[in-house]
Amino acid sequence: MTTQQTLPKTEMVSNAAERFDNLSPAELIEHAVRNGEGQLAENGALACDTGEFTGRSPEDRYIVKDEITADAVWWGTINIPFDTDKFDSLHRKMLDFLAGKRIYTRYAYAGAHPDYRLKLEVINTLAWHNLFCHNLFLRPKPEELNGFKPDFTILCVPEFKANPAEDGTRNENFAILNLSRNMILIGGTAYAGEMKKGIFSVLNFKLPTERATLSMHASANKGQKEDTALFFGLSGTGKTTLSADPQRQLIGDDEHGWAEEGVFNFEGGCYAKVIDLSAENEPQIYRAVRFGAVLENTKFQEGSRAIDYTDRSKTENTRVAYPIHFIENALEPSVGGIPENIFFLTADAFGVLPPISKLTPGQAMYHFISGYTAKVAGTEVGVTEPQTTFSACFGAAFLPLHPTRYAEMLGEKMAKHQTNVWLINTGWNGTQKRIDLKHTRAVISAALNGDLAKVDYQNHAFFGVSVPQSCPEVPNEVLNPEKSWKNQGEYDKQAKRLAELFRENFRKYEEFANDEIRAGGPVKA
Ligand code: ATP
Ligand code: MN
Repeated sequence: MTTQQTLPKTEMVSNAAERFDNLSPAELIEHAVRNGEGQLAENGALACDTGEFTGRSPEDRYIVKDEITADAVWWGTINIPFDTDKFDSLHRKMLDFLAGKRIYTRYAYAGAHPDYRLKLEVINTLAWHNLFCHNLFLRPKPEELNGFKPDFTILCVPEFKANPAEDGTRNENFAILNLSRNMILIGGTAYAGEMKKGIFSVLNFKLPTERATLSMHASANKGQKEDTALFFGLSGTGKTTLSADPQRQLIGDDEHGWAEEGVFNFEGGCYAKVIDLSAENEPQIYRAVRFGAVLENTKFQEGSRAIDYTDRSKTENTRVAYPIHFIENALEPSVGGIPENIFFLTADAFGVLPPISKLTPGQAMYHFISGYTAKVAGTEVGVTEPQTTFSACFGAAFLPLHPTRYAEMLGEKMAKHQTNVWLINTGWNGTQKRIDLKHTRAVISAALNGDLAKVDYQNHAFFGVSVPQSCPEVPNEVLNPEKSWKNQGEYDKQAKRLAELFRENFRKYEEFANDEIRAGGPVKA
């Protein structure tokens, strides 16, 4: 990958009062506690607050528009252009701001496959951020640190606030990617996920354009028969939860590349939601919350250091970041083969989509381009209309290029390898409750172990997808969501509404789609 640096990077921060390079987790935890950045939970995890921002701020994420990006990036509300000069002056201001301060730096990799990896340099002011990067990015071996020449720098200074009038930002907080300077500047927010998703966006630019390699917002795991599976899905649909499977080796929970030889993780750790986390439902993730892991925005039970996973007072988006080997059966290096099965995860709050259905190649492309999920808006399904999200490729927020670039690459790969594609609804049905996690796990296992190759299917009346009519350990009324509704008319009404929303959303992609893909959409409305 090309490296073109005009501004010195770590060396420039030499005006910092104190600098700690590549500290171990134990050292960073001591620093974080001494600095008042966090507290130890009784299980040993470090509990921190992200402050005002408890999630990413997509509207304050920019890409510098220059020679490299001007014609390649799909500019708009997702990829907001930023001026090179403004970037450079903001960078200088941030470096000045660091004078006399303490910094934590780290060398890391993004990309488990050595041929496709990016060498990272991270500069933090918070020890816990540096621990987050230790956990989430790949950790070079000690000998690999000799002569380590970074390709890309993350400068993350939450205490530094931009002056919008002067700096060209919308707000005081910002995350700005510069593909020429090979640098990400983050300020005004302490949400650690900005660092991880910033690098993801960089790889989503570089891999397709420079390496003809597909990048994906998906989790991955591998079975005992060496079969690889991918799980695409928007936030909260179950990528992390469902890729952690005691029967299969975890490759990664969020970001992967698909090269000629197979898939590889971009990261060295996981970033799991912990709201309502329980040992019973998610034993592997529950056990990963321990010394070395970083918790975000959780609270302790009154008068103790026991984590209260049910507490939503700071945010619903409570998280834990841990290195991948905290999951017992993780695969290292995190590299898999050519996927045999692909799951598109969606949390359908209309209660319409079956927990599992099989897609034709045309339907697979249609659903990939649509990238649907939803949230329950009020308290009851069917009372207030759910809030829908259609995010192309199940991750448009992180994709600098036009979605059709990724869709075409995936389409070619799926056709070449005859991949099975399944649509999984991890959301709701007519019972007003979220589909039981054990039923979701059962339908996925049945797809993976071949059980669903032997059963009868029926085409869904509205979406045309093939719905298995039996599956071990899953009751028939769960497999067919219309049976979970008290009133068939109500189901039809919801299904019709959802089909309409799909059609409306797809209009903007119509011109890019062939007949096969168009026919993959709803069959009745
Ligand atoms: P992100 O991209 O934000 O990391 P994600 O796709 O990894 O999101 P998860 O972290 O796996 O999403 O979140 C799924 C959440 O939904 C978890 O809190 C999980 O416990 C809960 N859940 C409830 N029912 C189900 C189900 N049937 N299938 C999957 N997850 C479920
Ligand atoms: Mn996840």
